[in-house]
Order: sequence, then structure tokens, then C-alpha cells
Amino acid sequence: MPPTAKQVDLPQVKVSARGAIRLKQGHVWVYRSDVLDVDGVPPGSLVRVTDQRGKPFGTALYSSSSQIAIRMVSAHESVRDLPALLRERISKAIDYRKSFVRDTDAYRVIFSEADFLPGLIVDRYNDILSLQILTQAIDANPVREIVISELTRQTKPAAIVERVDARVRELETLAPRSSGLLQGTKAATTFTMNGVHFQYDALEGQKTGAFLDQRENYAAAAQYAHGEGLDVFCYQGGFALHPAGRCERVTGVDSSRPALEVADQNAALNQQVLRGREIEWIEANAFDLLKDYSVSHRLYDTIVLDPPAFAKTKRDLDSAIRGYKELNLRALKMLRPGAILVTCSCSYHVSQPDFLEMLSSAALDAHRTLRLIDVRGQAKDHPILLNVPETSYLKCIIAHVS
Ligand code: SAH
Repeated sequence: MPPTAKQVDLPQVKVSARGAIRLKQGHVWVYRSDVLDVDGVPPGSLVRVTDQRGKPFGTALYSSSSQIAIRMVSAHESVRDLPALLRERISKAIDYRKSFVRDTDAYRVIFSEADFLPGLIVDRYNDILSLQILTQAIDANPVREIVISELTRQTKPAAIVERVDARVRELETLAPRSSGLLQGTKAATTFTMNGVHFQYDALEGQKTGAFLDQRENYAAAAQYAHGEGLDVFCYQGGFALHPAGRCERVTGVDSSRPALEVADQNAALNQQVLRGREIEWIEANAFDLLKDYSVSHRLYDTIVLDPPAFAKTKRDLDSAIRGYKELNLRALKMLRPGAILVTCSCSYHVSQPDFLEMLSSAALDAHRTLRLIDVRGQAKDHPILLNVPETSYLKCIIAHVS
């Protein structure tokens, strides 16, 4: 009897011994160099993954162009009903946030691999969802439709916006697309985290709009901030606006004028929190500004350093560490005794031990004593899968400086 459509097996992809070891260790990726025979497997398809002898590992999404050829989605060896799987994964991701997200109407609803939805990122900003698609499989029209209808059914947003990263689409050999509204007409709103209000324009700004991964760190930093504060790499004022209620004065520094314009509008939204305290924004290159300020002995009681990722690849590690050290050394020289340093790195390739080693070396050079008050990472709506180290990338150290 010929097989019916339902019984047709998924294309099979065999992985090398090295790929098999990775999967046995709980990782969800297999690199192209560890994939054997993929002839005829369609780009973006659902595949059954086995070791060299044919022993199954589960079901994955296949990319024909990414260095990460295989991204596991299920330990079941042959998932046939992709729509049902996607609906279940989206529901689980939403439930997870219900348990762990507090004090905000803006958070990451779906975080790609960490929610077993590789290549899908969804952020909620109050009543607007912002979606990013990073893999061939999720970009397929039927998959897009399921994702949008399920998100709509479960979260009832006023609008869904897609943010497109042109470089990612090129790497995945996907046709160019522009960012825009996928549903609804509302493209701007305000959101509130930890009682602080922010403006959100879905089609402007970096990332999907704000740095939601720092949300819990803003609140943690605000607990200890005092005196005169300097927020370096402030973007739209995420850190600066949080401790502003505790500091006498806060200065935010960024090289992006559009980001500072939003920061200023955000300050206006928070008059009640600020209670008349002074907050100013300076457009400058942070490296130059810190150099000038440290040479002219400017002193602060709280400094936040939250630069962009300096190490985009492993090869950048040494120069990234030098960059972090320069910033931290200058900041340490500009802090009064008893001050607070909040220092961050969002480079996955700089591990937490690397970052702490850099900081201890900067402390020695600056002749300062640092006591670690809090060693933190990304907010809980950006889950870390213990056996997938790549899901953990943010470091945020809060230290007392004497
Ligand atoms: N702290 C922010 C996020 C910072 S992201 C928040 O929590 O929202 C990094 C920021 O660094 C971006 O806003 C970018 O415009 C800025 N930036 C990048 N290079 C810079 C430089 N050399 N000097 C000053 N700002 C810079």
C-alpha cells in the first residue's frame, strides 16, 4: 500500500560522531561540518536527526546556508504536525513568562533556542509585539502564519511589527524584506518597567526597540545608586532613568543623537519619579569623554558602563578585553570612595570569568578595592538553557568601590 501523506517520513540528516556528542550533551545545534549526507534536503525543512548508525536524536529545523545546519526542536524522532508543535512551544513560552516576569509590561515573550523555537524572537512592548525571524524554517509562509495567528490568539496585541535584520536574511539566503507592520496599525506606544515609563516606536531604534535583557539589572542598580551618576552608553536612558530618583544628578552619554532624543522624551514621561532632579544627556564618543573627564579629575558616586558587544566573534576576544579594561580603568579612577560601579558586557564570547578577570586587573591598575555586591546576568524572560552556553550572554556586575 502506498504511504499516505501523513505517513511519509521526514527527510533524514545524519550527524558525525562529534555532532552526536554535542547532542548527547544536551546542545541543540549541529554545525555544517558535523552533518553527513544532506543531499536533497529542502532549505528550512523539518528533519529527522540520527547518528551515523541511524539511531535517532529527534526532530530539527534544517538550514541550507547557515553554519548552524541543524537546530533541534523536539526529542521526538519524527514530528509530523509542525503547526501543533509551534502552538505548544508558543504557549509554553507565554506560560513561562507568566511565572517569572514581574513589574513590567515589556519583556521577551519568545527567545529562540531557549524556548525551542530556533530563529524566532518576540518582544512585547505593552500592546505591541515586535517579532524577528532569523532562520529559513521560521521564515516559511505557513510557519509565519501559524506564529502570527497563535500570538494574536494568546496575547491579543494591538499590533505586530516585524523587525528585519538584512544581514541575517542574507546569511540565511532569504529574499530581502523590509521592517513593517504585520498586523494592526499601531506602531507607537509607551511601556512601563519597574515603575519607569518609556516611549516605544516599533519601527525605530536598535535591537527590537529597547534593551529588555537589562530590565532586572536596572532595578538592582537603582537600589545602590547615589550622589552624582554617570550612565555611559545610555541609549534611551534605561539605566539613567532608574536611579535618577535616588541620585542628586544623572548624566547620560551616548554617541547616538536619535537615542538621546528619545531619552529626553523618556525623562519628560517620568517627571514624578525624577521629582525635579537634574538629568542631562551628552552626545559624545564614550572613550573620548571618559578620557577627558578622567584627565580633568571629574568625580562621580555612581557610574554605569553598558557598551555594545565588543567581541562579535571569538577572534575579537583580546581586543574586546582591552576595550572593556580601558573603560573600566577610567571609570574606576573617576569614582569617589564608597561609590558604585555597574559594569556590563553583552558579548557572549567574553565569559563571566574573563570579564571578572578584566575587572580585577583594572582594579589593581587603578589602585581601588572592589567588593562585589551583585553578579548578575540577563533578565529571566531571556532564559538560559544550562546545556546551551550560547543562550547566556549578558554580564552585569555591581560593585562597591573604595
Ligand atoms: N544601556 C542601554 C543600552 C546600551 S547599548 C540600555 O540599557 O538601554 C549600547 C549603546 O552604545 C548604544 O546606544 C550605542 O548608540 C552606544 N554607543 C556605541 N558606541 C559608542 C561610543 N563609542 N560612544 C558612545 N556611545 C556608543
